[in-house]
Amino acid sequence: MASPVPPVSQVSGCRACCVPGCASSQLRRRRSLKAAAGLPAAGTSIPRPRQRLDGRRRLRASPASATGPPQLSSIRSVVLDIEGTTSPISFVTDVLFPYARDNVRKHLDATYGSDETNDDIAMLRAQVEQDLSEGITGVVPVPPDEAGKDPVIDALVANVEAMIKADRKITSLKQLQGHVWRTGFESEEIKGVVFDDVPPALQKWHASGIKTYIYSSGSREAQRLIFGNTTYGDLRKYLCGFFDTTVGTKREARSYYEIWQSVGVDRPSQILFLTDVYQEAAAAKAAGLEVLISIRPGNAPLPENHGFQTITTFADIL
Ligand SMILES: [Mg+2]
Repeated sequence: MASPVPPVSQVSGCRACCVPGCASSQLRRRRSLKAAAGLPAAGTSIPRPRQRLDGRRRLRASPASATGPPQLSSIRSVVLDIEGTTSPISFVTDVLFPYARDNVRKHLDATYGSDETNDDIAMLRAQVEQDLSEGITGVVPVPPDEAGKDPVIDALVANVEAMIKADRKITSLKQLQGHVWRTGFESEEIKGVVFDDVPPALQKWHASGIKTYIYSSGSREAQRLIFGNTTYGDLRKYLCGFFDTTVGTKREARSYYEIWQSVGVDRPSQILFLTDVYQEAAAAKAAGLEVLISIRPGNAPLPENHGFQTITTFADIL
């Protein structure tokens, strides 16, 4: 069954005013003049927390060089990225993505008119319309339902192929991919692949009372399929929950704040986040989580002086 997708709040403060000569624009002009003269602008020497319109504190990524080694003794929960952390990137790029690309037409054709697929198509239509308005290349307009099943599916397949090729991390694509993969997992055409050290670590953490969660840009349904059908069997019994981009993207600190609120520990520093991507690590650190970066075969290189502690296996980190 498709997971409900709550809207992700994008509320932010007003940064610019359209009214010429207003107090705000005059202040900006005075600041820019001072900056041009090499003088500090009024108010800029006193750091103050940015306030959002909804009253929530804005979380911003900070340079990782300011971070120290992770304090692991107080960890009560682990949040795991999948691609490049629990599983080889090649499993995603060489198995999952091609399976979805090669089977999306068959899936849409077989399930056209079902509630689930109607929901998937509605989300894709909305994404395509947004992409067209933003001038994204390779986007194909989706004809209305009245045009008939085949033209609609042709357009959807063209868009999905372009989205997969561009490796876009968008909820509409991930949701549909999850539904295509479900067929593959159920028929055992595909199996979830995890590194050898992952199952024993999950088992050990579970036995010691540490709660483990997954946070991936893949849909929660896809995550459950991967961990429920691995070459080591069903690993979901060691997992307490799954997060996807409905809590926010993985490079936003706010997403990790939301995860902390859901995980049920008193402090964000009681959560250890493992990922292979520096920007995700920096965002999680900015939200107060402890972070380790996973170095696995085939992962992309990290920036120099990234400042995070790295691991090559889950064995013995907790
Ligand atoms: Mg990753």
